[in-house]
Amino acid sequence: MSDELLQTPIEYLKGVGPKRAEVLRSELNIFTFDDLLNYFPFRYVDRSKFSRIADIDNDQNYFQLRGKISAPQLIGAARGRRLSAYIADASGEIELVWFQGIKWAQEKIKPGVEYIVFGKPNYFNGRYNFAHPEFEPVAEYDLLSTQLQPFYSSTEKLKAKSLDSRGIAKLTKTLVAMVDVIPETLNPEIIYRLKFISREEALKNIHYPESQEILNKAITRLKFEELFFIQLALLRHKFVRSKKYKGHVFRTVGEQFNTFYNQYLPFELTNAQKRVVKEIRSDLGSGHQMNRLLQGDVGSGKTLVALLCMLIAIDNGYQASLMAPTEILAQQHFKTISRFLGGMNLQLNLLTGSTRMSERRIIHDELESGKLQILIGTHALIEEKVQFKNLGLVIIDEQHRFGVEQRAKLWQKSDIPPHVLVMTATPIPRTLAMTVYGDLDYSVIDELPPGRKPVQTFHYYDSKRPLLHSFLKKKIEEGRQIYVVYPLIKESEKLDLADLMEGLESLSRSFPLPDYAISIVHGQMKAEEKDFEMQRFIRGETQIMVATTVIEVGVDIPNASVMVIENAERFGLSQLHQLRGRVGRGADQSFCILMTSYKLTADGKKRIETMVRTSNGFEIAEADMRLRGPGDLHGTRQSGILDLQLADIIRDEKMLRFARELAAEILEDDPELCNSVNQVLEARIRQLRKHRQDWSIIS
Ligand code: ADP
Ligand code: MG
Repeated sequence: MSDELLQTPIEYLKGVGPKRAEVLRSELNIFTFDDLLNYFPFRYVDRSKFSRIADIDNDQNYFQLRGKISAPQLIGAARGRRLSAYIADASGEIELVWFQGIKWAQEKIKPGVEYIVFGKPNYFNGRYNFAHPEFEPVAEYDLLSTQLQPFYSSTEKLKAKSLDSRGIAKLTKTLVAMVDVIPETLNPEIIYRLKFISREEALKNIHYPESQEILNKAITRLKFEELFFIQLALLRHKFVRSKKYKGHVFRTVGEQFNTFYNQYLPFELTNAQKRVVKEIRSDLGSGHQMNRLLQGDVGSGKTLVALLCMLIAIDNGYQASLMAPTEILAQQHFKTISRFLGGMNLQLNLLTGSTRMSERRIIHDELESGKLQILIGTHALIEEKVQFKNLGLVIIDEQHRFGVEQRAKLWQKSDIPPHVLVMTATPIPRTLAMTVYGDLDYSVIDELPPGRKPVQTFHYYDSKRPLLHSFLKKKIEEGRQIYVVYPLIKESEKLDLADLMEGLESLSRSFPLPDYAISIVHGQMKAEEKDFEMQRFIRGETQIMVATTVIEVGVDIPNASVMVIENAERFGLSQLHQLRGRVGRGADQSFCILMTSYKLTADGKKRIETMVRTSNGFEIAEADMRLRGPGDLHGTRQSGILDLQLADIIRDEKMLRFARELAAEILEDDPELCNSVNQVLEARIRQLRKHRQDWSIIS
């Protein structure tokens, strides 16, 4: 089959037609023959193996049985009518039922004949049965074939057009039978070196494997391709970008940096902070535009690193800006940094959605004149027509709400785009970073500032509430402050608020006012009200902060040493980790108490256990990825880069690393993939890009 034939619209495949083509497109993104060929089964059932009827023990798997079928009986009347028969083997019997196609089944079942029956059992009225099973007389069934039957995932809309797994299998069968030549996507060297089977053999066998052995080979080859082309596209993008875009050269570390470092730095940098600053400095001086991801656990001191980098920019005559995902966080950064720079004569300001028009005008003017040296803010920074005189460095805090697209916007802002440093508040596993942010360089702060006592974490069921209250009381008497956090679910903000108010009441009963005061912050308050409440807590006028998750990325208050999380099972792991990171910032022992009801799902339980077990952000991120699957992490779901059919970036970490190394090796010699041997790779990237929007961004 030529490449052209592979690009034929799916509508023209025998058995498809315009209506089915429509759902194939909308449900599965299958537009062409080639797309269908690349829609892989998610499992295979070995049709040469039989189960004993007595061994049927779940309704998750398909079972294949062999035995005689009893004479079918019609049961019930009118709409409830069904055909019922029993298949028996030496171990027992099980009911087969038909609600449709009754006449056909009745005629096909012959007494005394041995059948092969295949299907997925239902559990009904305390027993298993098979509804609409496949069945065939043994005599007609080829017992010698060790055929692995493919199963495809389907959707309700597809099923409505008879495209269940079996329906899709019919199409792939037709297609595979038509296929003669499928063009290669890897060059011969790679195929030879990795001992791969051809793409053609791989694609045919992934649908209709001749044996388990060749199926394994097919999966290996196609899985590798999945990982390899993402890495190749990402790295090529990176190479081309660094060639195409010059970077501002920050040659010196000058007066501002040194003054701050020597006179105002309130503490010694950790070794990890020093190393990271060094890595960044060498990027900034290289003449290439920096695009670096900085990972560091909660509390590892990223803000300070950001500040040092901004000072380097200023020392070289450039402006710097720091962008945060929320207003509260932007304000916090502004305050923290203003405090750090208090003794120095530098011009900085804050720009967010709620900055007044008059102030905004001043900011705009001062940015254009170059008077303003540091601008801190939210997305407003890049979304609006904010013009800098010479923006040299942009730091983005908490990148996961900040997509590839928005980064791209920055790169396009001027001829020489600013250096970009992206900081993550929640670590993501290295393999995930490699895939989602594979075009960025990577630094990690893997050390917390000294003297931090790890937060002690406990899990309490609701019944321990009295104990919790007396514990909180004791802590308040010791002069500490406390957070109590309630989950916030968008769909039912009212309900959450009710939860919060109820909790508040129960708290006030255990802490008779006026001895103690409580701050409340929730999502339905105005920004000024929130701020007012926050400020009271920050100043120590209130001892308890009752809040919904709006404090997730909030304040840094060393005196707050207890974090109580209500309905903890309703939070995701990374959120729990973030929340816990709000305490443990002072010298005192801090505590995190996870309150849950007795009703915990298996996943909920695992999340809580993970939190109690470890406070290492990287470990938590791994656990999170295992529980949720990578596609769900950190808003990367939309990033179709993770739409992997075969590869699993945890399980296949080794292969991923290898794919990346190989991609880098190839690009080292041939950065634009124009050597003749590499043109097949270039063509494949282009083809993938055409189909997937997100690929167009990275390639
Ligand atoms: P994050 O990485 O979570 O953004 P922050 O930058 O907010 O962490 O730092 C957490 C706390 O640790 C802050 O109070 C900060 O002042 C403090 N800190 C940062 N670096 C150091 C250091 N080297 N030694 C001691 N404290 C530090
Ligand atoms: Mg931070």
